[in-house]
Amino acid sequence: MLSLIIQKIRDAEIKYHRGIHSVALLAVTKNYSAEKMREFYNAGQTAFGENYLQDALEKKAVLSDLPIEWHFIGHIQSNKTKLIAQHFDWVQSVDRFSIAEKLNHHRESFSSPLNICIQVNIDAEEAKSGVSASELQKLATQISTLKHLKLRGLMIIPKIGASQSTFEKAFLLQQGLIEQGFMLDTLSMGMSDDFEAAIAAGSTMVRIGRGLS
Ligand SMILES: *Cc1c(COP(=O)(O)O)cnc(C)c1O
Repeated sequence: MLSLIIQKIRDAEIKYHRGIHSVALLAVTKNYSAEKMREFYNAGQTAFGENYLQDALEKKAVLSDLPIEWHFIGHIQSNKTKLIAQHFDWVQSVDRFSIAEKLNHHRESFSSPLNICIQVNIDAEEAKSGVSASELQKLATQISTLKHLKLRGLMIIPKIGASQSTFEKAFLLQQGLIEQGFMLDTLSMGMSDDFEAAIAAGSTMVRIGRGLS
């Protein structure tokens, strides 16, 4: 339930000495209808994450009366970058420069930049999206040159059964970039089964899907 998840986030903030309201909730709605999203919105939730462009556009049309903050968190195909850049406020799954350049180009006519998280393949899994830890700094530097993008931080999807050290590693990568002068305020990590561990390690945004039902 939404209210229960929010309570658990607040409890974890206190338990792990994180600032109150330092952790935002992204409601991941790939498995929820537009009607259900409207219920979440009416209960106070404003940030929603979607994985599939076509589904998201259909829901967005139905919910166009609501000032929702839309996050794209799915795999990005380069021929979809135009619609993604024009319909979302955030893209959390950027893992290569060619995609960032296309998103930047298609955002040119907007007054506000597109918020970006770099997806890091934190457990170096063979079949998973995400830039490797060793390539991260280069990609962050490249993205920072793009005027219509605003680099906000990192996003990770750990492997199944990942340990606390995975979250801690992501936090250290983020800190490393901050020390080099990148102005980052977002560390997007933690899902329904592990968000409290992610909060303990420094997450600023948990992405919850199943836990909302
Ligand atoms: C589906 C999904 C989530 C939410 O996962 P749950 O286990 O349902 O909480 C979070 N992040 C990404 C990238 C997802 O695809």
